[in-house]
Amino acid sequence: VRTKLPGDALWNPQAHMPTAQAKRLVLTGGEGAWLESSTGQWLLDATASLWHANIGHGRARLADAAHHQMRKLETYHTFGRFANEPALHLADRLAAMGPVPGAKVMLTSGGSDSVDLACKLARRHWQLEGRPEKTTILSRVGAYHGLHAFGTSVAGLQYNRDGYGTSSLVPETARVATNDIAAVRRSVTEIGPENIAAIIAEPVIGTGGVIGPAEGYLQGLQDLCRSHDILFIADEVITGFGRTGHLFASHRWDIQPDMVTMAKGLTSGYAPLGGVLVSPRISERFFEGADAPIFRHGLTYSGHATACAIALANLDVIDEEGLVEEAGRLEDVLAKAVEPLRDHELVEEVRSGAGFMAGVHLHEGVNGDAIAEACTDAGVLIRVIHDNTLQICPPFVTTDAEVKLIAGTITQALDAYQY
Ligand code: PMP
Repeated sequence: VRTKLPGDALWNPQAHMPTAQAKRLVLTGGEGAWLESSTGQWLLDATASLWHANIGHGRARLADAAHHQMRKLETYHTFGRFANEPALHLADRLAAMGPVPGAKVMLTSGGSDSVDLACKLARRHWQLEGRPEKTTILSRVGAYHGLHAFGTSVAGLQYNRDGYGTSSLVPETARVATNDIAAVRRSVTEIGPENIAAIIAEPVIGTGGVIGPAEGYLQGLQDLCRSHDILFIADEVITGFGRTGHLFASHRWDIQPDMVTMAKGLTSGYAPLGGVLVSPRISERFFEGADAPIFRHGLTYSGHATACAIALANLDVIDEEGLVEEAGRLEDVLAKAVEPLRDHELVEEVRSGAGFMAGVHLHEGVNGDAIAEACTDAGVLIRVIHDNTLQICPPFVTTDAEVKLIAGTITQALDAYQY
């Protein structure tokens, strides 16, 4: 059986992927904020693929970095006594950039990996502290933290958590209120802080609908954690590396989490790579007490040399082109562009102003998928996320005119919509 090529008369892109993930378009190329489909159409990528193509598509420099590293040493694992150069350089750089003082960097293969590792680190920390009852991981209503065992269990979106036989895949998780610190305090008292290992929170909820933090909320979470010996995990898989106009959202909202999970923007999607910035008091003890401590954690591809070389080139591009500042500037451009949608009769709420991202929450009963389809027809790729919300999260190289084009295309699709 030979692989069919786009354009082959008999090629059926539905044939061998799950039916629920029906393919509408096959993308074959990309340049900046634009993507080319197999039919030769160019479309504006208004979601940076899955919140991650931050520096834009088609960057020869990252391809060159990958080529160069692969010709030298494609990879060597980093979890034992040996390592590779790009992984060590990347760890140095991330530790210096991040909001965790003296951070150790544990590299992974993506966001879900990073969340699972952070939750394990948190639980083990309290076991080693002689407080074995501190196991519960709190997350927030509406949160998305990936789909591995811990991520699935701490999901704040019911449909990610349900249906696997027990109330949660991993025992002892609970959800607290988003943006209501008094309610969180009450939940913590009810559960008993002596039972809580950590709170995990996305500074800006992404997949749950693009929901920024209420004034003082993240600070409030941090204070609550500090006063009750609860570890604070910031899930910066989306917000890390510039999305909020700061290197990390933790900088913008002035928090110092014990751990920060990263992925996506770390390589802008040019390689699957993630990591956790870990306070050294947690990371060093994690390996204590086993006969062969280094085997306690380590993934084949954590610290993959080629992925790390790509990440370093990505960070160079972000730095040299001032893309963090540019994302901060574009946040305002986007907020202005979507402002008129607040008055649209099909729109429930427009969420903007917490980074270069926005959510357009449609009224119940409006078919969001039909709106997304109409936008695709008009050449703008958007996505529908939780609760009938249109996701806007473009690459940082999007121009002001293109941002306006995204808002304009959504407006036209809404105007043309028929119930
Ligand atoms: N955490 C957050 C906040 C995310 O948005 C995502 C991915 N959308 C993940 C974790 C999981 O990352 P991945 O898909 O790379 O496993």
